[in-house]
Amino acid sequence: MKKVYASLCFALAITGMVKAQDIQNNPGSNHGNKFEQLGTILPTPNEQRTASGAPGAKYWQQRADYNIKCELDEKNTKLTGRETITYYNNSPDPLDYIWLQLDENQHNNLDNANYQSSTTMPKVASTTVLEKAEIATEDNGYGDKIAGITDALGKPLPYTINKTMMRIDLPAPLKPGQQLVFNVKWSYKISDRLTYGGRGGYEYFPADGNYLFTMTQWYPRLCVYSDFQGWQNHQFAGRGEFALTFGNFKVQITVPADHVVGGTGECINYAAVLTPGQLARYNQAKTASAPVQIVTLDEAKKREANPSTATKTWVFQANNVRDFAWTSSRKFIWDGMNQAIEGKNVMCMSYYGKEAYGLYSKYSTKLVAHTIKSYSSFTFPYPYPVAQSVEASNGMEYPMICFNNGRTQPDGTYSESTKNGMIGVIIHEVGHNFFPMIVNSDERRWTWMDEGLNSFVEYLTEELWDNKFPSKKGAAYTQVDYMKLPKNELEPIMTNSENIVRFGPNAYTKPATALNILRETIMGRKLFDFAFKEYARRWEFKHPTPGDFFRTMEDASGENLDWFWRGWFYGIDPCDISLDSVKVAKADLDGNLPATFGQGRAPGGANTNKVAAPIVNNYEDISKIRNREDKTIQFYVDKDTTVRDFYWRYDRGLAAVDSSKFKDMTKAKNMADNRKPEPFTDVDKAKYASKFFYELNFSNKGGLVMPIIVQFTYADGSKQIDRIPAQVWRLNEKHVSKFYVQDKEVASIQLDPYRETCDIDESNNYWGKLPEPSKFQVFKQKVAAGGRGQTTGVNPMQVGSGK
Ligand SMILES: [Zn+2]
Repeated sequence: MKKVYASLCFALAITGMVKAQDIQNNPGSNHGNKFEQLGTILPTPNEQRTASGAPGAKYWQQRADYNIKCELDEKNTKLTGRETITYYNNSPDPLDYIWLQLDENQHNNLDNANYQSSTTMPKVASTTVLEKAEIATEDNGYGDKIAGITDALGKPLPYTINKTMMRIDLPAPLKPGQQLVFNVKWSYKISDRLTYGGRGGYEYFPADGNYLFTMTQWYPRLCVYSDFQGWQNHQFAGRGEFALTFGNFKVQITVPADHVVGGTGECINYAAVLTPGQLARYNQAKTASAPVQIVTLDEAKKREANPSTATKTWVFQANNVRDFAWTSSRKFIWDGMNQAIEGKNVMCMSYYGKEAYGLYSKYSTKLVAHTIKSYSSFTFPYPYPVAQSVEASNGMEYPMICFNNGRTQPDGTYSESTKNGMIGVIIHEVGHNFFPMIVNSDERRWTWMDEGLNSFVEYLTEELWDNKFPSKKGAAYTQVDYMKLPKNELEPIMTNSENIVRFGPNAYTKPATALNILRETIMGRKLFDFAFKEYARRWEFKHPTPGDFFRTMEDASGENLDWFWRGWFYGIDPCDISLDSVKVAKADLDGNLPATFGQGRAPGGANTNKVAAPIVNNYEDISKIRNREDKTIQFYVDKDTTVRDFYWRYDRGLAAVDSSKFKDMTKAKNMADNRKPEPFTDVDKAKYASKFFYELNFSNKGGLVMPIIVQFTYADGSKQIDRIPAQVWRLNEKHVSKFYVQDKEVASIQLDPYRETCDIDESNNYWGKLPEPSKFQVFKQKVAAGGRGQTTGVNPMQVGSGK
């Protein structure tokens, strides 16, 4: 994992193509290569990116500062803007041209990048759908209209638009260390987001005749130029979000005078745009420990009824951000409160219409505060001065501001699922501040690096909100249905965003589950949390690649996880470990009998001892149980009981289990590994007379190598769990055995009792009604010094002998 390989392999790896032999160089063998090092699959370490997964001594990244002025024409739903961009070439390369993203061209019928998608005849269709299916001849008027691009002196710069990408050709190469200052003037017709789709646009409310604008991916934005890819100028086809360069923003936004505007960064002229009463409440909110309404429901309703024709300009400043987004509406109720993060105050705020008042006034800002606090504990302290949630009936993230959903019924009531959906989406979108807004991965290439990592921390954060929250991401059992699908419907997590067939499970929930399994079952919380934090800390305000993540997790934990990345991120095999047979014996201490065994199922024979698996612990995963038993954790719903609503009750969320079942996690002592060189004494022999011996034979039916978690239930009703690491499959990836010496008679055996491994077939996980033991011979054996294949005196059931 830390070797230097030919740069050709780097090129292959970064395009997502992996040489077949890297994945499977010995498919017919029992000893395949599931435990081989990732080797050439990972890019070659260099001075920018080290073999340990950290930024190297010569790491560099570009910077783009923006000074933007824009005006929202509400009546004509049009935006006009002009920007001055200062682009810093920190790379060692001279640049002949630069690339900008024109994402609004997604909505243009001629200049979009969506025409490449396959389409079929719909059963029911809106006129918009039909319109999109017409062969485009005339421009529909959407998309960026560029009114001119000039250099710092006002001299026009030539440019070429290729769908959603624009290349500006420079009169002379921009040399390393130089800056380029240039101006872009543009405008676009804002689209109806609910009809045309997309990340931003407007929503019209016919009941009161007002608009809610979500202005996102709205100005021509610099593409990323990087050491690992050059220009990231992949077209925006709607799904793969974006890759952007960090920089500072000053943005002046002119809107109708009665609008409330929220944007990335801090508004620096509230005194000029708020009423004295609102300004006083804003200042009060800055130190409040519960949300203070800066604009009230009554004020918002009055504005809705009497729209203003005047305008006001709101001015925002945001430093070290990769993007700027904003929202504007006279419908907004606006509240805020303070959340201290390691001594620094963060203004948490929410904006929502009356349609969401019943939920958002109670929950949104508290969720923002809880999210940045929880994420900070798993990564790094939230570095920005504000964090905001906007109700816009969707779910989309930008630095310091995000758009979420959760509207009530007209009478203010709501269902439990609407409320839980809102909690999930606010935590998720606010959490995106960390991945990918600050840990700035390339979303247009690797969706899992932002959605997967973020869904994982979202799950941890939901857990800390309420130990009974019904999280849909994270717990291993939630991925079983996806992992069960036929292979032609699956692709590896390491798949480019636009090429993923099942986007949700592949990019969000499978990586979230994989990381949860790493944390709870493979590495343990202590090692995992340190390494994950190290990754976030190393790549805070930088551009990581998948290799940087994989390498850091190993580098900081001392765990060789190449097998795990191979199986979960580069492969599609599911986990299905079967307990095929169990042999039972007692020691024969009298000497002369040949070794015989209990009557476990012969290979291919009838499995008469198996019974259907009992459903235990069925829908509470191990993370929930451990959190509940960790007395240092205080859940938000217990700390702040004002967030308990009509739906709060003991049995909310998922079914609870008897946690005493989980108490005994100690490993059974594996006597088979106890290679005592000294001969048996009578005392030893006497000891074995009372023991029970078991040989468990497992097969790997799914293909994914995973730990084997064995729970013994003894005849006296007590239980014990043995956790066998995945490396047990090293020498034989298909069949392994494990031998146990037990003090007590075993009544039944169950694999993965806490559903930690995403085992897709639990029917082969259980063994009950064990047979009567037969006897086998015990004899003394002199062990040769340094000899291999040593056994204990108990022969011949060697551990891991395989079949
Ligand atoms: Zn997301």
